[in-house]
Amino acid sequence: MGAIRLEKVKKSFGTLDVIPGVDLDINDGEFVVFVGPSGCGKSTLLRLIAGLEDVTDGKILIDGTDVANEAPAKRGLSMVFQSYALYPHMTVYNNIAFGLKMAGESKDVIDQKVQSAAKILNLTDYLERRPGALSGGQRQRVAIGRAIVRNPAAFLFDEPLSNLDAALRVNMRLEITGLHQELKTTMIYVTHDQVEAMTMADKIVVLQAGRVEQVGKPMDLYNNPANKFVAGFIGSPK
Ligand code: ADP
Ligand code: MG
Repeated sequence: MGAIRLEKVKKSFGTLDVIPGVDLDINDGEFVVFVGPSGCGKSTLLRLIAGLEDVTDGKILIDGTDVANEAPAKRGLSMVFQSYALYPHMTVYNNIAFGLKMAGESKDVIDQKVQSAAKILNLTDYLERRPGALSGGQRQRVAIGRAIVRNPAAFLFDEPLSNLDAALRVNMRLEITGLHQELKTTMIYVTHDQVEAMTMADKIVVLQAGRVEQVGKPMDLYNNPANKFVAGFIGSPK
């Protein structure tokens, strides 16, 4: 399960109202992209869902339960960052296994989960390498592997491809949407890249200054943008 609902979610940093109030419904299994210009609050909204920031007000419901005051680990979500955040001194295997070890899983369970994730991500031949001996795309796959083994209710991606070159980005886009088709797990994907949003999303959430400007399928936004901002941002001719 992985239905996520935001009700009047607000976030201020001191006197700065970064998220004045967001209502949003994400269905179980949906691939949702948060898109908007730099500084509009995409990462903050994702971090609120993940529990890496506390809400100033409002509810975050995961499968009907308000988790707004729960610790990140209790929310059953896995976050994949732009900067990979891998441990350089550990092998790929141990990077992927790390969270499972911390959770006290048995060696056999860990091995089965790591091998299965490695197979999905084409990392089987790289398990004994360290991150320094991997390409950017492989490192990003290790970061995704670490998320997969925890079997989350939803994956949260914060601009995971922005450190990769253009050609690799196209490949990784296909890999991530392929992963979504295979796992059918809810994914929330943050980007400032309109092309990523249009090509990857089941549902796009367009943000500006911490507000939701429009929610809809890529072609619905393109054909019927709610306002000039959405039209301009999505590249719609209207
Ligand atoms: P985006 O991911 O869309 O680029 P962010 O969510 O990172 O935007 O930031 C939204 C706004 O909130 C920006 O004005 C940013 O400076 C501000 N902000 C983010 N995190 C903090 C923080 N910890 N303290 C103060 N301001 C912050
Ligand atoms: Mg950001």
